[in-house]
Amino acid sequence: MKIKDIYRANNRLLSFEVFPPVRDGTIDRLFAVIERLSELNPDFISVTYGAGGTTRDMSVDIASAVKKRGTAEVMAHLTCVGATRQEIENVLGELTRGNIKNILALRGDPPAGQTSFTKKKGGFAYANELVEFIGRFNFFCIGVAGYPEGHMEAPSFKADIENLKRKIDAGADFVITQLFYNNDDFYRFRDAAIRAGINVPLIPGIFPIFNYRQIQKIASLCGAKIPSALHEALYNSKDENERVEEYGIEYALRQSNDLLQNNVPGLHFYSMNRSRHVERIVRNLSWERG
Ligand code: FAD
Repeated sequence: MKIKDIYRANNRLLSFEVFPPVRDGTIDRLFAVIERLSELNPDFISVTYGAGGTTRDMSVDIASAVKKRGTAEVMAHLTCVGATRQEIENVLGELTRGNIKNILALRGDPPAGQTSFTKKKGGFAYANELVEFIGRFNFFCIGVAGYPEGHMEAPSFKADIENLKRKIDAGADFVITQLFYNNDDFYRFRDAAIRAGINVPLIPGIFPIFNYRQIQKIASLCGAKIPSALHEALYNSKDENERVEEYGIEYALRQSNDLLQNNVPGLHFYSMNRSRHVERIVRNLSWERG
């Protein structure tokens, strides 16, 4: 089913992101995690698309397998990195054959070792071009990425919102955001998007912290700020993983409940292929789901 139709029926979406294992565990372990996440009754599970070709085939295979097993509805991520139109079209063909109707259309990050994104000859430079291309097939529901603190490469927050609008005008049906830890950033982003005429669901992406060093690395890679009180609490327990995880769960739960009280159209959790902490958060959210 298309995510836009699920949203029309439920008015609020719950989703989880997983990634194809590179070296961190086996595929069987991932499917076990997906089974446990499915017990939380998500509206969909999304499967990331490996940077620089690393796990691309696996992304499509995993998304197709989840769809085939009927565990949950699926969204496949797709990037423009190192791909020509023809190569993208081939992937779209595979997704169509797997009956996967939902795609998160992304430009992607520069491959390791490169500092800026260069489009492949015959490929796409920006995600709005990919959205427009996918739309031509009249088969997919299309999501795109949004950045509550602005994308790292954008010359300004305003320019980034204008570029988000391009993706919506090109045919995107909803937005999922980059992780953030200060809800005011999300509310400012939402207000700016609405002012710019963006009227599709803007779904916050929540990354529950479970490891101090890992979140430092991820936040610096995507440019997300960690508020000083949160940083201090994590730093003080940085070598006690259980305490960090416990704090991360409490923080994500508070953050999610505040977002729900402020009428967000759903929550998308970056699971990092773990279910325990996401389970704790989702089971304690203050929302009624059908
Ligand atoms: P774009 O929307 O193309 O934006 C990139 C930059 O260019 C921005 O600074 C924007 O302001 C600017 N821009 C956009 N359009 C134009 C234009 N027409 N003219 C001029 N400037 C423009 N990466 C992966 O490799 N695999 C994944 O599976 C993956 N999943 C993700 C899921 C989510 C929810 C999010 C938020 C990100 C994900 N990413 C993933 C990371 C993403 O690929 C990077 O953030 C990437 O740097 C930007 O991708 P984008 O689609 O937002 O690009």
